[in-house]
Amino acid sequence: EIYLDNCATTKVCIDAANACMKVMTEQYGNPSSLHKKGVEAENIVTAARKTAASILNCDPDCIIFTSGATESNNLAILGGISARKRDGKTIVTSSVEHASVEHAAAYLEKQGYTVKRVEPKPGGNFDEADFINAVDEDTVLLTFMMVNNELGTVLPYEKIIRALRQKFPKLLIHLDAVQGFTKFPLNVRKIDADLISFSGHKLYAPKGIGGLYVKKGVRIEPIIYGGSQERSLRSGTQAVPLIAAFDEALKLCRDEGEKFAETYRFCNDYLRKAFQKMPEVVINSPANASPHVLNISVPGVPSEIMLHFLEQHDIFVSSGSACSKGAKSVVLKAYGLPEDRVKSALRLSFSKDTAKEQLDGFLDVLEQGIRRFKAVIR
Ligand code: PLP
Repeated sequence: EIYLDNCATTKVCIDAANACMKVMTEQYGNPSSLHKKGVEAENIVTAARKTAASILNCDPDCIIFTSGATESNNLAILGGISARKRDGKTIVTSSVEHASVEHAAAYLEKQGYTVKRVEPKPGGNFDEADFINAVDEDTVLLTFMMVNNELGTVLPYEKIIRALRQKFPKLLIHLDAVQGFTKFPLNVRKIDADLISFSGHKLYAPKGIGGLYVKKGVRIEPIIYGGSQERSLRSGTQAVPLIAAFDEALKLCRDEGEKFAETYRFCNDYLRKAFQKMPEVVINSPANASPHVLNISVPGVPSEIMLHFLEQHDIFVSSGSACSKGAKSVVLKAYGLPEDRVKSALRLSFSKDTAKEQLDGFLDVLEQGIRRFKAVIR
C-alpha cells in the first residue's frame, strides 16, 4: 500500500495511538470532575495545551481545543463577527480557501456582509499588496489560509499580517494554519494574528481534534453553549483521549519537524525530477510551494480515471481536496489553471514515513496508467 494523500489525513503515530488507548481505558475521568480521576484528566488537557502553546510561543490559556479545524474556523469567523457587530460590514478572504472558511464567509455574505475574495497571481502565488489593498475602514475580519491544501502554495502571511496590524490595529485577523502548522515556524510574537486554527489529523493525531489560538484580550463569542469548558468558548466535555494523542503528535512534529521537512523535500524533489522525463505530466504546484504537497496533471486523462487506476494497485492519491469529493476543484480554477489541467489534477502529499521505494512504485504505476490511457491523451 502506497499512501500519498497525507493532506487529506495522516496515519496516527504510535505514541499518539498508545496515549489515546491509555486515556480511554485507564485515565478516563472527566476533566470537570472534582475528584482525583477528574484532576488526572484535567492534567492531561493542561499538558497538551502547554505543548500546543510551545509551538506558537503563546500562553497556554490562549489555546482552545475543538473538534477540528472546521470547527476552529467556524468559531473564529462566526464567533469573531458576532462579537463585532458594529465594527464594519466587510470581510476579506482569498478565493482559494478551504470550504470551512469559504462557506462560513458565504453564510455571512447572505446575512448582508460584503465578502472580498483576493485572487492569486498567474502561477499560483499571492501578492501581499492585494490583501493589504482589499482591507479598508469597513473591514471587520481578515480570514485566510497559511498554506493552500491543494497546491501547497504558501501565502505571504507574515507580510500581510505585519502590514495590516500596523495599518488597522482593530482589524480581527484569523489564519487557517492547518496545512502549515508545525511545518513552518509560527511564532505569535512575530506573526501577530488574533486567531489561528489548526488540526490534529493532518499531523499524525486522530481525526476529531483541533485547536484555536485566541490572542490575549481578543473577544469572540462562542458558537456552542453549555458547561463553559475551554474558557466558555467551546462548551462540551473535552475529548481527553484525542487531546492526549494530539499532545504526543504535536511533540513529535515539534521535536522532529526538521527531519520530517527533509523527507517532504526529498519526496518533492525526487518526483519533480522524475516528471521532467515524463512529457505527459504537468506540474501545477509552484516551485516555492510547501514541499509536502505536489499537484500534477496528466492532461487528457480525467483525475478520477487515473486515481482509480492507481487505487487498483493500492496507491492512494487525491483528485483535489478531500472535501470536494468527485467535484472539479474550484480552487484550482481560482488559481487560473486551464480547464484540462483542472480536470486531470492529482494531488500527491507526503508523510514523515514516505520512502523512495514508494515513490518508485507510484511512478511505475503512473507510467503504466499513462501508457494505458495514452489513446485519449491529446
Ligand atoms: N483548513 C484547511 C486548509 C484544510 O486543509 C482542512 C482539512 O481538511 C481544514 C481546514 C479542515 O480541517 P478538519 O478536517 O480538522 O476539520
